[in-house]
Amino acid sequence: MAAETTAPVTSSSPNGLAAVEQEIARACKDAGRDRTSVTLIAVSKTFDAEAISPVITAGQHVFGENRVQEAKAKWPGLMMAYPGIVLHLIGPLQSNKAKEAVALFHAIHSVDRPSICEALAKEMKLQGRQPELFIQINTGEEPQKAGVAPAEADAFIAACREKYGLTIAGLMCIPPVDEAPAPHFALTAKIAARNGLKNLSMGMSADFVTAIQFGATHVRVGSAIFGHR
Ligand SMILES: *Cc1c(COP(=O)(O)O)cnc(C)c1O
Repeated sequence: MAAETTAPVTSSSPNGLAAVEQEIARACKDAGRDRTSVTLIAVSKTFDAEAISPVITAGQHVFGENRVQEAKAKWPGLMMAYPGIVLHLIGPLQSNKAKEAVALFHAIHSVDRPSICEALAKEMKLQGRQPELFIQINTGEEPQKAGVAPAEADAFIAACREKYGLTIAGLMCIPPVDEAPAPHFALTAKIAARNGLKNLSMGMSADFVTAIQFGATHVRVGSAIFGHR
């Protein structure tokens, strides 16, 4: 969005947050949706505590990170300083990081294979913690991208529920960078609807308004809030 790239957003200014908030409010209004039906996840990957603090004090309390190790290094301190933070893992998860992920995050958006389901089910039981789980759908069927192929989604969702006893909150997608996002959002919404899933994690800085039109309940916005990485 041109407005964000030309705005004087720096890593120490929360100015991007107000603009994003305004756009979300407008998109909700245009779509006839309540503003409270969309959760803004401020994606703080690569930004340090100094850059994140002003965004928290500006009123944002839901954040997203894509790496477990990076989040572990900066968020425990911030969570102590600012009670009420909700942290989402939006990047790929390895089974050997499931323990740390369950301990730190309130939501995990990248469930996409049986080994992860098994590791998460085990850790959730051991730790008595229940992060919200989203299944990532590889809507563009890109070989380098994580996620379940659309044709395998129904069976995978059923296995998560029946075989691993997991409660699934919703679906997540990341459209291919070189394609219009709308068909990918529509496909994700369709798979969610036929599987009785209410939450849709879709939309980033460049396309969160479109995602809201297609029913996104969680938008993951980084650079429009924090500036360029
Ligand atoms: C980095 C990232 C985002 C945010 O991207 P922006 O374009 O900076 O808004 C959203 N989702 C995922 C999975 C990411 O890795």
